[in-house]
Amino acid sequence: MSSVHLQTLRDLLPPGRLSEDAASRAAFESDGLTAFRCRPLAVVIPQNETEVVQTVRWCDQHAVPFVARGSGTSLSGGSMPVSDGIVISLNRLRQIIKVDPDNRIAVVQPGVINLQVSAAAARHGLYYAPDPSSQKICTIGGNIAFNSGGAHCLKYGMTSNHVIGIRAVTASGEIVSFGGESLESVGPDFTGLFCGSEGLFGVALEITLRLLPKPECFHTVLVGYRSLRAAGDAVSAVIDSGLLPGAMEIMEALAIEAAEAATQCGYPKGAAAVLIVELEGPREKIDAEKKQLESIIAATDAFETVVAADDHQRAGIWAGRKSAFSAVGKLSPDFLVQDGVVPRKRLGDALEAIEGFSKDSGLRVANVFHAGDGNLHPLILFDDSVDGELERAETLAGKILDLCVQMGGSITGEHGVGMEKREFLPKMYDEPTMELMHRLRAAFDPQTIANPGKMFPGAEAPALSSHGLHPLEKAGVISRE
Ligand SMILES: Cc1cc2nc3c(=O)[nH]c(=O)nc-3n(C[C@H](O)[C@H](O)[C@H](O)COP(=O)(O)OP(=O)(O)OC[C@H]3O[C@@H](n4cnc5c(N)ncnc54)[C@H](O)[C@@H]3O)c2cc1C
Repeated sequence: MSSVHLQTLRDLLPPGRLSEDAASRAAFESDGLTAFRCRPLAVVIPQNETEVVQTVRWCDQHAVPFVARGSGTSLSGGSMPVSDGIVISLNRLRQIIKVDPDNRIAVVQPGVINLQVSAAAARHGLYYAPDPSSQKICTIGGNIAFNSGGAHCLKYGMTSNHVIGIRAVTASGEIVSFGGESLESVGPDFTGLFCGSEGLFGVALEITLRLLPKPECFHTVLVGYRSLRAAGDAVSAVIDSGLLPGAMEIMEALAIEAAEAATQCGYPKGAAAVLIVELEGPREKIDAEKKQLESIIAATDAFETVVAADDHQRAGIWAGRKSAFSAVGKLSPDFLVQDGVVPRKRLGDALEAIEGFSKDSGLRVANVFHAGDGNLHPLILFDDSVDGELERAETLAGKILDLCVQMGGSITGEHGVGMEKREFLPKMYDEPTMELMHRLRAAFDPQTIANPGKMFPGAEAPALSSHGLHPLEKAGVISRE
């Protein structure tokens, strides 16, 4: 692609939308997976939907690869560009088009920040449930592409459970509308298909979200255990009882130590693991459920139980959990956060195996995870200034993913396949299923120009180089979950 060709795109768009200078391109060469980078050919920052569509159609006409980008917080390299491609940055499409309290929906542009949806819905007593811990900064467009989750997705489901309509431009430039404003739809669930498509189908332009009433009350319990296995067993006991908490999270000793140092969260001293269980809903229901929870916890090997007495104490408990990942970063110059899923019953086995991998590799691993749905987030600590440590960390991360697959789980719970895990997808799916996925992609993107090099194995790996925490983590604005 020559700059003469790029000039035709520049001519299509209003002045200032297309940048080719090195400084502008450098800002988009990496995402939350900071170990990888690749500088794009150019960056387009459209101000409205028409400009997005014009850019995509130009890319289709000239067979130029593009990647849609929200806030670039992907932890799997999902929004990393390719060197001969265009970044379409959607942050200026940030309008909340409407909040309809009667139908409990919001219609938003793709660059709207997750938490701003709840802020707009709050005056109607409503909120948007999916709560990735990057929710202060990540966009709804990125959330649907990765079908993102968060601590409270145990009860309410992932992003796909809260998206009821999508209007998008496919990679071949066609405008499509899936679903709508009604919770019921007829025919195949194309909205669900688009959720989790990792930017490979095209660009979402307008999204209709389901809103929920804010819970009337919360009951948050922090429990200390002498072993990780005992904490894992407690999770099974809660789920087996039929209770469905809003969130069930586990942190182990290394992560507790880091969180304690960062937030003085007052977690039980000497705990090998802590479990946070949060019930939420109507007061009457929670009054009954908290008694049930109390007796379940009493029958486990807990050595200390703290019940949050008020909102302040609840916030303190969550502050420890939410800070855990960035705080772990203070224990080590570099870390990789992995994301895999095992069947909940196999949590104990998986954690033991990870401990073994950690010993073999000589690298420390801190485990923090959404225990209720078996979603592990092992943090692999390493020092990139030591020769070969990044590669050893990557190898260890790969062993954890293999383990998840062997146990019948998944190579991703919420961070997507992206660039990082594309070689692992065929380990989860057989050839006919992979072939079906390729055909689905081709239906939306016959030229393979939308976010190439992601999800499917085979493309050339971009340069591997570590450059530390995401800038927003360094600034303490967001923390990983
Ligand atoms: C500190 C930290 C904490 C995190 N915590 C969580 C967590 O708790 N749970 C979780 O699930 N994830 C988490 N993440 C990962 C990340 O925030 C999510 O994947 C998020 O959804 C990405 O949103 P984004 O706007 O940054 O998207 P980007 O990173 O810009 O893009 C992500 C993907 O979406 C595609 N995309 C973006 N916009 C569009 C669009 N309009 N149409 C089509 N495709 C599009 C991109 O091409 C890319 O493939 C965390 C990340 C960080 C850095």
